Amino acid sequence: MIIQKQKSLEEILKSLEGVQKVFLAGCADCATACKVGGTEELVEMKARLEAAGKTVTGTAVFDTACQQGAVRMKARENEAALAAADDIVCFACGTGSQTLQETLEKRTHPGAESMFVGQVHRLGKYSEKCATCGKCVLDRYEGICPVTRCAKGLLNGPCGGYKNGKCEVDPEKDCAWVLIYKEMEKRGKLDKMRKFEPAKDQSARHTPRAYVWPKRTPPPSQGAKS
Ligand code: SF4
Ligand code: SF4
Repeated sequence: MIIQKQKSLEEILKSLEGVQKVFLAGCADCATACKVGGTEELVEMKARLEAAGKTVTGTAVFDTACQQGAVRMKARENEAALAAADDIVCFACGTGSQTLQETLEKRTHPGAESMFVGQVHRLGKYSEKCATCGKCVLDRYEGICPVTRCAKGLLNGPCGGYKNGKCEVDPEKDCAWVLIYKEMEKRGKLDKMRKFEPAKDQSARHTPRAYVWPKRTPPPSQGAKS
């Protein structure tokens, strides 16, 4: 899930300087799960913006704000309210915000911060496990990612600053390398600690990234004459 939090009202109002009429957009996926852009949050934000003197022409929770087809569909249901607005404020991730702007050709202001792709422990408690580097090396580290979970992204063992199993950069967090070591030990794979890992190939991380499914080749059995 893309972990998000709402921007403060002050930040939103600053972004809306000179803009009077706005349409509020949410998203039924991550933004709703993070309590940033669901129905409840949009109703609340509408009241706060109106109290601050803005005109809210309408609100809608898109399913899903980052999906152009879904955006077009929801926009048709809200045509008049969207047309009446000068701008949109999007309470979803940055991709959702840009998808709305591109698809609806209307200036869209971000109403949320996209923080990271995260694991959900429970509502309101999230942690980052993967930085979407594009070349996964989890197999090399017994399923624990040092790229993301070590504050320095070290690939060849700990920095030496850890204390009682915690990271020197943030003592609230486990040292990734202590976790990796323990996992290797548990599985009888400590010899992996001696293996040198070359610098990470970052080529798959160049932005902006894009991906188009390759053409599928049917399995040899399909289409074969019997
Ligand atoms: S190596 Fe780490 S950051 Fe890269 S894809 Fe795997 S889990 Fe994600
Ligand atoms: S203490 Fe551990 S997690 Fe923190 S930077 Fe050093 S090796 Fe990485």
